[in-house]
Amino acid sequence: MKKEFAVIGLGRFGGSIVRELIELGADVMAIDISHSRVDEYAQIATQAVVADTTDESVLKSLGIRNFEHVVVAIGENIQASILTTLMLKEIGVPKITVKAQNDSHEKVLRKIGADQVVHPERDMAMRIANNMVSNNILDYLELSEEYSIAEIKANEKIAGFTLIDLDIRAKFGVNIVAIKRSNQILVSPQAIEKIRLDDILIIIGSDEDIHKFEKKALH
Ligand code: ATP
Repeated sequence: MKKEFAVIGLGRFGGSIVRELIELGADVMAIDISHSRVDEYAQIATQAVVADTTDESVLKSLGIRNFEHVVVAIGENIQASILTTLMLKEIGVPKITVKAQNDSHEKVLRKIGADQVVHPERDMAMRIANNMVSNNILDYLELSEEYSIAEIKANEKIAGFTLIDLDIRAKFGVNIVAIKRSNQILVSPQAIEKIRLDDILIIIGSDEDIHKFEKKALH
């Protein structure tokens, strides 16, 4: 059965989520208070509806209870974002993802039971900044406040050595969970695996240890 999703708020972020979900074959109801925004998505989403989602009766009349996952992408109007999330929670939507504008907004969203809170601008900025300070860090994904996953390009300093030779876990406290090599991905590489130049190492660890590894092992 197709998964059913709803996206509330059709700004750049909400709109992109709608397009991607449709691309992935999902059914999506796109909702916004603005007629012009909804018109934009009339031909793209499965259904596009004009509604003020801070009104509980409006949400109920949309049958929002039947959607398994709802994304709240109302940005600037923090009050509308919080009220909408609260209503969705009360109505009993199983999974709610909300875009937060700032840390206090995130705190409130978590308190009222949002299952997932995202900061697209902050998260993307973190990935780009990490790549800017080090050419070896290709990508950076935050797992929690302290831990991340990074994609790091192997260079001549470590190429030709096995994972045992480098003893990365003991020396730096990070784990190599996979190696991307050309079009292949070696998941959980063995200790005797020899790193090749231009391999991409996917490592997991604390932010401090990842940066220590990048600074000490690759320079
Ligand atoms: P982005 O950066 O993704 O473009 P943004 O942070 O600028 O988004 P806004 O444009 O402020 O976000 O809000 C996204 C959408 O949410 C807007 O199209 C706006 O009309 C819609 N919106 C605001 N309040 C409500 C509401 N009460 N009910 C439904 N939609 C709403």
